[in-house]
Amino acid sequence: MKQRLTATPALARTYMDLFVNRRAFTLQSMRPLPATGRHYYYRSKERDSGAPLLLTEKTVADHLEGKITIGLYAINPLNQRCKWVAIDADYADAMDDLIKLQHQLTQDGVESALEMSKRGGHLWIFLAVPLLARKCRIYIYDLAQKLGVPVKGSGLAEGIEVFPKHDEIRQGAFGNAIRGPLGIHRGAKRRFWFYGADYTLDAQIQFLTSLRRLTEDELDRFTAGREVPSNLAKLHSGAGPANGNEPRRNRPAFCILDYVSETRVVGRNYVTRCPSCALRDRDRGRDNLAILVSNPRFYQCWAGCTKEMIRAAVGKPIPIGARHE
Ligand SMILES: [Zn+2]
Repeated sequence: MKQRLTATPALARTYMDLFVNRRAFTLQSMRPLPATGRHYYYRSKERDSGAPLLLTEKTVADHLEGKITIGLYAINPLNQRCKWVAIDADYADAMDDLIKLQHQLTQDGVESALEMSKRGGHLWIFLAVPLLARKCRIYIYDLAQKLGVPVKGSGLAEGIEVFPKHDEIRQGAFGNAIRGPLGIHRGAKRRFWFYGADYTLDAQIQFLTSLRRLTEDELDRFTAGREVPSNLAKLHSGAGPANGNEPRRNRPAFCILDYVSETRVVGRNYVTRCPSCALRDRDRGRDNLAILVSNPRFYQCWAGCTKEMIRAAVGKPIPIGARHE
């Protein structure tokens, strides 16, 4: 269902106030990867400088109008806090579990908004002030445990996923992004609305801003004396890659994709100009370097440049003793 909707600057500003906790963001690809048929998320860069693009009101308006689709990061690494918590569920009984969680939240006096998604839903909680990611996670895991709602990664393949996905992320890292609500999902080719308000941008945003927000005092009370369950803490400790829905650019370590531009997908690979060839003014056809889509740690220059040469060419020589990045 394609609707041409207009997002006013005021609407974009309110959206930023609700959802944007840092200005780094991801974009959903317009075309799916041939290998998987899925629309991946990537970090967009300025054409000339190569600097990552930052969210603006215009970007948000374009997202709301369906021209682009953005992904949003939960945690700001400056203070390890987030503005919202989103519970993502996309398995068979996902909606039942989300509704159970929503009911339990209501018992605590916490209002939430249920958003439809491609296979299940996302349950959003907004916070009065940015709150520590770790405490947000403790609270939701505790609720899930009480209700017997499965948590993905706790030894289970299916279950809810909590955004923020990390307790903390290091400076320069991003954590995982979630699809920004109210845009058009490129794979489903449609907009997913929140239950509880009319299906217009104005009504939806008004509904979201009307929800009572969880306060720091409340969260402290709900989480007093509790920790992230050990099986989940282990999975998400530190700033691990936890490559959820952002296969391309969410790697804290060296990622060749951060150093090449104008990649295109051919079969299972991204193809682009080899940085080492480029130094010698070769590879003007821009197709010598192949990078495996499913795991960008694997890349190869068809003209024979070694990994050492490529790393040196992008100014990130392989450290002595490190052999696997
Ligand atoms: Zn080369």
